[in-house]
Amino acid sequence: MTGCVTDLRRAAIRSTAKDYALKATTRSWTSAVFFAALAMLYGMLVHADHHSDSDSATGAPTVLITGANRGLGLEFARQYAADGWHVIGTARSPGKANELNALSVEVAQLDVANQTSVDALAESLAGRPIDLLINNAGIFPRVNKIEEINLDDYSRTIAVNTLGPVRVTRALLANLRLGKRKTIVNITSRLGSIALNDSGSFYGYRESKAALNIFTKTLAIELHPEGFTCLTIHPGWVKTDMGGANASLTPEESIRGMRAVIQELGPADTGTYWSYSGEKVPW
Ligand code: NAP
Repeated sequence: MTGCVTDLRRAAIRSTAKDYALKATTRSWTSAVFFAALAMLYGMLVHADHHSDSDSATGAPTVLITGANRGLGLEFARQYAADGWHVIGTARSPGKANELNALSVEVAQLDVANQTSVDALAESLAGRPIDLLINNAGIFPRVNKIEEINLDDYSRTIAVNTLGPVRVTRALLANLRLGKRKTIVNITSRLGSIALNDSGSFYGYRESKAALNIFTKTLAIELHPEGFTCLTIHPGWVKTDMGGANASLTPEESIRGMRAVIQELGPADTGTYWSYSGEKVPW
């Protein structure tokens, strides 16, 4: 609606300016001066509109995506960059992130399980607004029986999938507060839903995502007064190294769906659990 109003206003000013330009050639000096002033005013209005549409100093909103060197993170980076966003894609080994480096994105080093790495990223980004944080990095050990649980691997899963998003969100909160959209998206799984768990298996992974879900809900309550939107989203079963070749979705389909969900939801929806397809998932 605002866009329509703005367009009409611009068109009206443009045609008035054109009118005056024609008359100014045949009429008085005064008309010419008036036309110049009108043109300047038009320029100022266009400039002001451009800034009110923009989300950062460069005019593009900024998204930071963890684990962006492959899989879903890489596709998030690809789609947001193609859509004109400023993308900060993180990788544990940026020098080896060939596909990410080939995109028009900023690449940064980040191991979400390493506090020193998280601190270094936060320091390098100090003072820069981030509109959207996507905590995407994750691991998926396949452990189906309690006797198979290796507690070191179990801890590692929690360290990456749960503590990773906690660390990164805490470290980048100042940047998110500077952003206009103030959105935090945690990439979870339907395997983290207690309500939907009717088949067991996947020890460690389920717990790590269920904990990530309740972290999202708690964070949403705390940050609600500041206008934040905190979401936890299941990407579907996707053909990546993690999902395997038999998965039902391509990364392109999953990310297109998740981006639509993120775009659609706002502060009134904070603290909710979604599927890439736009349906709510029960906790
Ligand atoms: P993926 O292809 O295995 O990619 C995982 C990404 O996470 C890689 O970029 C990896 O980096 C990064 N990563 C792992 N440990 C990290 C750490 N300590 N610090 C920083 N980055 C780390 O997996 P995906 O399918 O894209 O999964 C992305 C997210 O979706 C995960 O959170 C996953 O749990 C969730 N998910 C996926 C599916 C699915 O079907 N694919 C379903 C449900 C949920 P490296 O290359 O350095 O290892």
